[in-house]
Amino acid sequence: MQKSIERIAGDSEGVSYEFPVFRFEGFRFDGSDKAAPSAYLQAALHAGELPGVVAIDALMPMLEKAEAEGRIKGSITIVPQANPIGRAQYHFGEHQGRFHLGTRTNFNRGFPLLAAPDVELLPDTTLGTADQRLKSRLLQLSIGHDIVLDLHCDDEGLAYLYVHTSLWPAMADCAAAMGVDAVILWDEDTDGTFEGASITPYLNLPAEVARFDRRVATVEYRGILDVDGALAGADAEGLYRLLVGRGVILDQALSTPGSFTGIVAPLENIDMMPAPRAGAILYNVKPGDRVAKGALLATIVHAPGEAGGRTQVFAPQAGIILTRRSRRIIRAGEDLLKLVGDRKSADARSGTLED
Ligand SMILES: [Zn+2]
Repeated sequence: MQKSIERIAGDSEGVSYEFPVFRFEGFRFDGSDKAAPSAYLQAALHAGELPGVVAIDALMPMLEKAEAEGRIKGSITIVPQANPIGRAQYHFGEHQGRFHLGTRTNFNRGFPLLAAPDVELLPDTTLGTADQRLKSRLLQLSIGHDIVLDLHCDDEGLAYLYVHTSLWPAMADCAAAMGVDAVILWDEDTDGTFEGASITPYLNLPAEVARFDRRVATVEYRGILDVDGALAGADAEGLYRLLVGRGVILDQALSTPGSFTGIVAPLENIDMMPAPRAGAILYNVKPGDRVAKGALLATIVHAPGEAGGRTQVFAPQAGIILTRRSRRIIRAGEDLLKLVGDRKSADARSGTLED
């Protein structure tokens, strides 16, 4: 395993950012197994989302053991903390890892959507902003790998994947290996998420080259507070199972996972449930709950102690609660939760995944 340090120039003199990259070289580099797929894993692009960081921490010893035993077939690139800019952003004592404070841009938007998987097509970001330079570099590091996983987490939630429609059901084995609860399928990214930027360059290529051999996903490892040793160990085992299952690592002792039995739904089935009033949220449901149409989801206390000071929110359709907010204060119009409905949402917001 080789460790190297990436440096991203900041937006002012004397400021720069660093993050380590770990590389395991597979057999393919000495020519004995050119067919083995390669993998790229990154975590904490939203810099405060740490379940993936601790999962990678738990995964690394497993990879080092495999390497010591000569079982790594395809190259593996690991970026445990992909966003040193966001990691350093504190605003009045609160960490702000989702948006770049300098540009107000979401760190997981604005990635260049290339026409082909060719790093020569990346825009010149020398005169751009530091977050643009970071995005360009992350894409440069990841493009060309057969498996690309971007590890995030939600507020409070189940473990689930965002997967491009073209990769499903070919990625069902990965979902099963990782043991996630749900898979959300999307088909259009106009905002430039990392995942979108990882799959878009391949969409114009012939299917046998581009799609079904590739594995690209945004992984949502539950909620922001689910940074836990036991979960990290289980998630590391899931990632390892995926790498073995796809032939990146050899491990004959590992049993193959069964088929994926979790929820699979298109993005358009998700009801985001905007809050009708601002106030304190009393939730009546939690992630994983199955609800019927008309079930009480939450009560907003907007005028405490007053008659009519509570407003209830009901399920517009039957489905499963995928996520809810981790904080209990809300403004009118903000989303209360994600309900994966059995059918298309009446207010389906097309476009980018909400990660
Ligand atoms: Zn995220």
